[in-house]
Formats: sequence, structure tokens, C-alpha cells
Amino acid sequence: MVLADLGKRINSAVNNALSSAQSDYSTTIDNMLKAITTALLESDVNIQLVSRLRNNIKSKLMESKGNTKSVSNGQTKKLIQKTVYDELCALVDCNDGQEPFRPKKKQSNIIMFVGLQGSGKTTSCTKLAVYYSKRGFKVGLVCADTFRAGAFDQLKQNAIKARIPFYGSYTETDPVKVAAEGIAKFKKEKFEIIIVDTSGRHHQEESLFQEMVEISRVVKPNQTIMVLDASIGQAAEQQSKAFKESSDFGAIILTKMDGHARGGGAISAVAATNTPIIFIGTGEHIHDLEKFSPQSFISKLLGIGDMESLFETLQTVTNKEDTKATMENIQQGKFTLLDFKKQMQTIMKMGPLSNIAQMIPGMGNMMNQVGEEETSRSMKKMVYVLDSMTKEELESDGRIFIDEPSRMVRVARGSGTSVIDVEMILQQQQMMARMAQSVKAAQPGAAGGPAGN
Ligand code: GDP
Repeated sequence: MVLADLGKRINSAVNNALSSAQSDYSTTIDNMLKAITTALLESDVNIQLVSRLRNNIKSKLMESKGNTKSVSNGQTKKLIQKTVYDELCALVDCNDGQEPFRPKKKQSNIIMFVGLQGSGKTTSCTKLAVYYSKRGFKVGLVCADTFRAGAFDQLKQNAIKARIPFYGSYTETDPVKVAAEGIAKFKKEKFEIIIVDTSGRHHQEESLFQEMVEISRVVKPNQTIMVLDASIGQAAEQQSKAFKESSDFGAIILTKMDGHARGGGAISAVAATNTPIIFIGTGEHIHDLEKFSPQSFISKLLGIGDMESLFETLQTVTNKEDTKATMENIQQGKFTLLDFKKQMQTIMKMGPLSNIAQMIPGMGNMMNQVGEEETSRSMKKMVYVLDSMTKEELESDGRIFIDEPSRMVRVARGSGTSVIDVEMILQQQQMMARMAQSVKAAQPGAAGGPAGN
């Protein structure tokens, strides 16, 4: 089952449970868990992980059951949603409280890539180079794959397209030597991030792993990343265990999470190696790389929007002043209609819409149902509606419209839309505002953790 369908199945399992006011609490939870676990297993998630998730959800919900006899109570509904959300996050979270690798400016940070041929290693090297380059680092790429004819050409083409300096050799056959030379050159030129691409294939697997160990000994990477193709299903677990034994990578980039990836096998691989996913590849283009966070991933999977990724993306492309103001608001737990308008305008400029839409509550589902063109039309309509609001309305939290519904009629008329269109936008902005509040709650020092939606 592909990930988009997995999200839909989990959502409907939870929604069915929440609306079944008839049966008793325990039966309802059992039915919901049955549907969730079947969906996870059909997506290739390892059976032990699924059973752990099932037991955890069940025991948490039974523990806090109290006097509840049914799920119709609002608090109970929230508890069920939050418990499922939290446990799904735990399923993909392998960070174990470790401090993630953060490259430092004004020194050489070496990142080595490992993974099988075809996993998306060379593409991901370039994507990561672009990612850091956009964040102000001086980045260089080294091709230490001397095994595959054409490997250097491929990296070179990618690097030229992305305007990233590169190093490699057409004649040298010793990958360890090329890696050492490339690093020496870039270090001398004060590059801050040096990314080393290694071979993904050999006559014998044994030699591939031996070569990786040797390169690693010379390169002394600050971080080793394994690239894993999300679409390979259950095989991901075995593959990553084999790599872990020889290269002891500290992070994973999961590629091909766009399209029809089942993804569950890869999620299980993460658990098997106890290594965090740091990025996911969501397409063939150099910008199709998203920072991975368990909360963002699960929020998107369930179609409840994803503030974290949205702002991570927005920060790199938008008017810094606008984003700063919005970020400040979010940190205070606010998200006004004006924030909504600014971000909508930026998103319209950004494209491809499909990547961005998944981050906005309600948008991902709309995109799946009506397609990109229609979603784009709807977004334009939203901007017309927001354009027709007064400054006072835009700077408000939206409640002004509920207190005075005549404002909605005025805005609908002014923008050539309907009152229902205006109401829909208000609903979306309210969802974002609720998420902003959960961002605030999740900040250190705040009481309670992030709330599930
Ligand atoms: P390598 O052999 O591991 O270096 O793999 P490549 O970087 O050459 O990638 C193999 C193929 O996968 C190429 O056609 C890439 O364009 C494609 N690819 C890499 N990452 C992604 C991704 O995130 N999504 C999609 N759809 N394709 C990808």
C-alpha cells in the first residue's frame, strides 16, 4: 500500500472509531487498532513494530479510560487522536535523544554517502550540497566512485547544474586516492562542507564493504549517511543492517518518497538500525529534499498539515521580513489572517504545488481529490478573498468574522466569491492557528507537549 493510502486508512480507522457512539469503549478501540495495524502491515512495516505500536496505544488508552464508557466525549476523542499520532511519531523516531549532526561554519565538515547503486545516492549528494549551499555554506562534491563507468560524469553534470564545485578523476582507479585528493583540495580552499559520493556496486559485495571501510578510514567523515530507496519494501531492513555492520552510518536519507513508495519497509529499516532519518527525497529535481522530522512526516501522512516543513521551506525562498514576523507570531502561539495571506502569496510563487500543498491543513487532501490545476485555482481564489479583507480583519485571529458574520458577506461580494469560500478560508486559518498554539506549547519551558490534531 502506498503511503498516501496508508494515511487515508489510518485516518478513516480513527474517524470511524470517533463516530461510533454505539459500541463500548474497549470494542471501539480494538476495532480501530485492527484497522490501523492491517494498514501498516500492508505497507510493509515490520510485524514486531506494528505489534508494539498496537500494544502501546491500547495500554495508554485503557489506562486513561477512567469512567469512560464510550468515545462520544470530546476529551476522549482528543485523547484517542493524540495517542495514535504520538505512537505513529514514535514509530519513525529513532533519534534516541542524540544531538543531530550540525555542520559548523569556518571549518571542514566531511559527509560521506553510502548505499546501493540506484538508491539515489548521487542525486541525494547533490541535493544535500544545494541544501547547505542555500544556507550559506561553501560546499564541494567529491566523486569517489571509480567502479562504475559514468559515475563521475553523472556527478559532474548534477554539480554543474546545481553550480556546486566538484572533484573526480577519469583515469585514477583507486577510490581511496580520489577521495583523499578531493578532500585535500577542498580543505585547502577552505570549503566548509565536503560531500563524498562512494560506489554503490562491486563485483562482490564483500569488496564493496571493504572499499567503504577504507574510504572511511582515510576520509574520516564527521557524518556518514546511508541512502535508502523507500520503494524496495521489506528488503530495506536486511540491506541497511549489512551496511550498518561495515560503515556504521549515523543517519539515513530515504529517497523516492514521492509517487508510489510503500515506505513501510524503510521505516522498519530505520528501527532495525536505530538510526534517524534526516532527510527524505521527494522527486528527481535537486530541490526535492525535505528535512525529516517524525512529527512533520506523520502530520503529512495523516493530511493534517505540517507547519514545521512549511516554514523550513518558506524560510529559504521568501521575503525574510515577512517570514520573520510570521515566525514571531507562531512562537507566541498566534497565526493571523495576514500571516495566512503572506504565506499563501509566497506558496503560489514557489511551485511545484504538490510538494507544498501537503504541508497545509486540508490542502493535501484537496490536491489528491481534484488535482493540481483545480487546487491552484482554489488558492488564487483564497488570495482574492484575503485581498478583500480590511487591515483590521487581516491582523485579527479571525474571530472578528464569527462575532460579525456580515463581514463575511461583504468579503465574499468584494472578492467575487461565496460566503462558503470565505468560511473555508477562516476554517483553514483557524487550523493553522491551533497548530501555532501547539508549536508554542512544544517550546522548552512550556507546559505540556505538542497536541495532536
Ligand atoms: P545512485 O546509483 O545511488 O547514485 O542513484 P542515482 O542518484 O543515480 O539515482 C537513481 C535514479 O533514481 C535516478 O533516475 C534518479 O533521478 C532517481 N531518484 C533519486 N532520488 C529520487 C527521489 O527522491 N525521487 C524520485 N522519484 N527519483 C529519485
